[in-house]
Parts: sequence; structure tokens; C-alpha cells
Amino acid sequence: MDVTLALDIGGTKIAAGLVDAEGTLVHQAKLPTPDGDAEAVWTVVDTLVTEALAEAGGRVRGVGIASAGPIDLPAGTVSADTRSTIGKRCHSVILMGLTGASVRLGGDGLCMALGERWRGAGRGAQFLLGMVVSTGVGGGLVLDGVPYDGRTGNAGHVGHVVVDPDGGPCSCGGRGCVETIAAGPRMAQWARDHGWEASAEADAKALADAANAGDAVALQAFRRGATAVAAMIASVGAVCDLDLVVVGGGVAKSGALLFDPLRKAVATYARLDFLRGLRVLPAELGGDAGLVGAAQLANSAR
Ligand SMILES: [Zn+2]
Repeated sequence: MDVTLALDIGGTKIAAGLVDAEGTLVHQAKLPTPDGDAEAVWTVVDTLVTEALAEAGGRVRGVGIASAGPIDLPAGTVSADTRSTIGKRCHSVILMGLTGASVRLGGDGLCMALGERWRGAGRGAQFLLGMVVSTGVGGGLVLDGVPYDGRTGNAGHVGHVVVDPDGGPCSCGGRGCVETIAAGPRMAQWARDHGWEASAEADAKALADAANAGDAVALQAFRRGATAVAAMIASVGAVCDLDLVVVGGGVAKSGALLFDPLRKAVATYARLDFLRGLRVLPAELGGDAGLVGAAQLANSAR
């Protein structure tokens, strides 16, 4: 059976996989993203791709690459710091090794949305926002059943929707983005600043444990983060006329702690008639969504 080669290039790990025509991962391997320069990152990509190609035995019919952004789709590059040449080199080198196979690059949020729509919680959705709440907040859009790249490949960067015009500084250079409130480390920091007794290393998982044990500040941190995400979802939902939002990532693993206040706040904010049916569901594919979606992206190119 023919397979699609999928790559997922992230800030902490790089994964390669082979995906069959039904969207099943039939091979996958991952390695930590090295700290060094682009060359060091490329060495890891090359190792994983070589292994996957050996596994595939010449049956690769396309290549899809999911990458942490921002990306530059027209140039085929990944523009984050030292990884600036990785996307471009993925294209050129893989294309050399796989004559005739098409290659598509997409943001990791877009690929997550595509993966969930193909094999996860987004099945059947025509207007979908797939998003993650983890160390950051990211996402991607499928509109009218088609992956929506935008002008540069960065559409769906929902983490930088401003939900508090007077809010704190964001890593993007702006202020009050949803990521400044709802990203796991930001929620944990807010809780510490408001009396949660935890070490500086305590993360969103520790915060969830505290909330589940009844810690009032931890619970409030989750409500605050969920409310910010809900404000963003209502806004993006109205702009894009969405029918479904699928939420994954480490913070979403806390389950009802996030989803109960999130759905309640979405119902408060999304009041237009056409938004009444807007559903919010937990992601189903976990860390595999990027690879499965990258394969779907490659398929959509043909
Ligand atoms: Zn921002």
C-alpha cells in the first residue's frame, strides 16, 4: 500500500511518520529538537526521514511537513530563529530523494486541524478551528472543507487574538493576546502571583492537580484561562462562521477543568443566532494530529 511521508517539526521534538490512505500512522519516530543551529536540526530531520524512507520501501506518494511557525509559505521556509532554512531544505532534499512526490508545508496548527478532521474529533466538520492550549496557544482553520493557509501560510494564529486590550505583553510584541492569559505557563504564573503556593517550576499539570484537589486560586486560574479562550473562540467563530472547535494540547488534557468553564463562557459570548450551534470538543489524536494532518495536507495538494 502507498503511504505519505509526514514530518512534524516542533520546538521540543521532531517527528517523522508514514501515514496510509486511511489516515493510520503505520510508522513513526521522534527525536528531541536540538538546541544548535539549523544544521543540527537538519541532521535530526535527515536521520528521521532516512529511517522512514527505508521503512516505506519506495512506496511514498507524497510528503507533508507540519512546522511550528511562523512559516513563510511562498518561500517554503520556517522562519523561527535558527531554524530558518529547515523548511526550504526539507523541500529540496526530500524532493531530490523522492522524484515525482509532491511536497506541502503547513503550520503545525493547520496540520493539527486537518488531522483531527480526518481521523479525530473534527470528522465531518466543514468549518473547523483546530487549536492547542499548551505552552502557547495555536491553531489552524479548515473552511468549507479546505485547509485555509492565508497569504503567507499563517492563517489561524489564534493565540494572538487580543482578548484584553489593556493586557500584559505577549511574546509576539503585542499586548493582551489570549496566549498571555491561557498558555499553561502563564496560568501557572498568574496562580503563583495570586497566592498559589508552588515552586517556580510548577507547570499546568501541577496547577490542574491543585485545582482538582480544590485549591481556589488554581480553580480561578483555569476559569480565567478558559474565559479568555472562549472570548477568542466566540470572536473567531463569528468571523469565520464556524461549526466546530477542537481543542487539544497539554492544558486541554485537564479535561473538565478547562472545558466546563470554557463551554459556559462560549455560551455567554457567542450569542448570534448563527453561532448557537457552535460546538467545542476535546481533541482525540494527541501528539499524532500533526503527522496525520501533514499527510492530509500532502494529499490535498494532489
Ligand atoms: Zn501575541
